[in-house]
Formats: sequence, structure tokens, C-alpha cells
Amino acid sequence: MKNHLSDRINRLPISQTLAMATKARELKSLGRDIISLSLGEPDFNTPDFIKEAAIKAINDNYNSYTPVNGYLELRKAVCRKLKRDNELTYNTNQIVVSTGAKQALANVVMVLLNPGDEALLPTPFWVSYEAMVNLAEGISVPIPTSIENDFKITPQQLEEAITPKTKLIFFNSPNNPSGSVYSKEEYRALANVLVKYPNIYVISDEIYEHILFKGTNFSFARFKDMYKQTITVNGVSKSFAMTGWRIGYIAAPEFIAKACNKMQGQITSGANCIAQMATIAALDAPVSKIKLRIDEFKIRRNLVLDLLSKINGFNLNVPEGAFYVFPDISYYFGKTIAGNTINNASDFSMLLLEKANVATVTGDAFGQPNCIRLSYATSQELLQEAIKRITNLLN
Ligand code: PMP
Ligand code: GLU
Repeated sequence: MKNHLSDRINRLPISQTLAMATKARELKSLGRDIISLSLGEPDFNTPDFIKEAAIKAINDNYNSYTPVNGYLELRKAVCRKLKRDNELTYNTNQIVVSTGAKQALANVVMVLLNPGDEALLPTPFWVSYEAMVNLAEGISVPIPTSIENDFKITPQQLEEAITPKTKLIFFNSPNNPSGSVYSKEEYRALANVLVKYPNIYVISDEIYEHILFKGTNFSFARFKDMYKQTITVNGVSKSFAMTGWRIGYIAAPEFIAKACNKMQGQITSGANCIAQMATIAALDAPVSKIKLRIDEFKIRRNLVLDLLSKINGFNLNVPEGAFYVFPDISYYFGKTIAGNTINNASDFSMLLLEKANVATVTGDAFGQPNCIRLSYATSQELLQEAIKRITNLLN
């Protein structure tokens, strides 16, 4: 019945991160001892003070439709958070709260792109950016990077990628999947290019801002000459272990916020009332409340880097944030392992699933076909066991 469906949906790839997570769950339910390093989801519980705020909201009868752009109290909390953590000044009319940062991003892409408009995607990029551009009938223009330059683009590459059709560029620092972080100076050099093109908008996805192992996150909108061209995207999924609560938000020029409000009003309405009240508690809490987790992620990162670097043919950068490693495994292309010929990263990822019972995600999904992604948002014991299995298979 595929031909009964719209071209739009037929053209859309499935999310490889979610597909691999589903596959791992299915195999587990069939009794296979799978260790899933596929999904980017903290393995901690939502902190108690946030859960208590949600329970209070239920008892206080928060049960009606919410304003499309989010409760005013929450938008005020977002403004306070942006001021405190990011030195950014926004008013509540510039904030739109959505059902996850995913919806927040989709809104922005939908309201800015016309068919044929180009969106620049520095590689590696999070899987859904490309799919959202595709849905909006825009054209994705990848800007390639490599492990040698820590998966970051240069101002010259940016300048060369821009055409009269360019409308958007996605930045995501700390990056999913590479863990790379742009410094203020690196961002400034890119801003010096973008400032010449006032019709190009920057989506700055800062969802991993607190999962950072050195320095502080620098928000792109902090450059005064970039403020009007930047949409800052964030959410509570990663920093507060609230993936299932589904709250994200944008801070943007007011006309973009208004347009996102209109879009969301026709598709989903305001985000969940209980989760919004819980998010106020999360955003008002000092960052020190989540510090322990960041320390734990750093320990895991070091563990994973140490163990993986002992495996033949794993070429790694040192991630400075988020909770992924993204080794280049192209050394294995053309080789045969356990009877399987490896032609690309998908073959390699499938080999790890089939022969080592470890689920990862192929780099193709992120625009880097030489790599695979492993999420280390799981216990040290499981990480050790997973890498032992991979080592036994490959060495
Ligand atoms: N941006 C990036 C880079 C992500 O990794 C994720 C993870 N899902 C999201 C946005 C969306 O997060 P959520 O919808 O859970 O807020
Ligand atoms: N962002 C996470 C990941 O990259 C969650 C899955 C998704 O929403 O794509 O694994």
C-alpha cells in the first residue's frame, strides 16, 4: 500500500537511532543478551525534586489544555535559565515550549524553509535534522569534516557552502554524535562569515550544554551581531534525565517564535501540563544539582576511550561533551570477520549486533559513513562487558 501514502512520507527515512533501539529491545525480548549502546538516553532517574513538582502539579489539578507556547511561568523560568547559564536576554514572547526539543526543531525548520531552500549540515549531524529538512522540502547540504579536525568545520568551508539559496545552518555543540565542542573563538570565526548573510538563520542546538567535561558552553546567540539570526534550542531530556517527559523549547526572534506558535497550534497544541510544571523546578535548580552525573559521564567517557583505543582499527577523537563516542572504523572496510564481509559502517554495526550482541548506530545516519556511534549512557559494568565482547570479536 506504499503507493497510497504521500511522497512526503515515502521519502522520509526512519530514524536510525530509534530503529536500532527498537531492534535491540526486540532481540532482548526474544531472549538474546543484547547490550544496547544505541540510544542517547541517560540511564539515571529523574531527580526527586523534579518528580515532586510533577506530583504537586497533579494534586493542584493541572489538567487543562496549556497555552500553545507554554505556561507563562515556565517561559519566565526559561528566560531566567538563559540569563543565568547562557548570559542571554530574552523576553517571554520569544520563547516557545514544545513536546521535546525534537518538536521545537521541527517547528523552526517548517516555519523557515521554503521548498528548495538549502540547509547547511556540518557533519556529523544528529539524524533528525536531515529528515526535518526533507519534510519541509528543503535541501540538505552536508559540510564534511573529519576526525583530524575534531569533526569541526572551518570558516572557509562555511563560506564555500553558502549559495543564494542558503537559509539555515545547524550547530550542535556539544555534538551528538562526535562529542565535539566549539570554543568561543571557533564560533566567532564562523560568525564572521554568517554576519555577512542576514538571510541565513542559525539553529544552535544546546541540548547537551551541561554534559560538558571542560570549560563552559558558549551560546551562539551571545554574539550581539548574531542574536537576531539565531534560534537557540534546548530541553530537559538530557541534562535532567527527563527524556520521556517531552519538554523542549526555543528562544528566538519574536517573529519566528510567533510562527512556531502558529505551527504548533495546528499540530499538537501546548505541551503536557504536568511536565511543564516539573520543568520549572528543573530549570530553577542550580546546575550543581546535576553535577554528580556529569562527573560520572566523564569517568565513563575515559573508560570507554581507554578500552576502545586498545582495539585494532578504532580511530577516536576525544569527546568533550555529550555521552557518545564516534570511532572511525573504516580500517575494517573490505575485511572479512566471522564470515561477514564488511563493506561499510552499517555492515560493521550489524556485525557487532549479530556476533557480539552489542547495539550501536551506523555513522551513515549522521552523515559520516566511516564511523559508528556508541552511547556511554549506561553503567560502567555494562560498558566494560560490551567492549570486552567487541574486543573478543575483533582482536
Ligand atoms: N537534539 C539533539 C542533538 C539530540 O541528541 C536530541 C535527542 N533526542 C534532541 C535534539 C531531541 O531531544 P528531545 O526531543 O528529547 O528533547
Ligand atoms: N537523541 C537521542 C539519540 O540520538 C534519542 C533518539 C532520538 O530521538 O533520535 O539517540
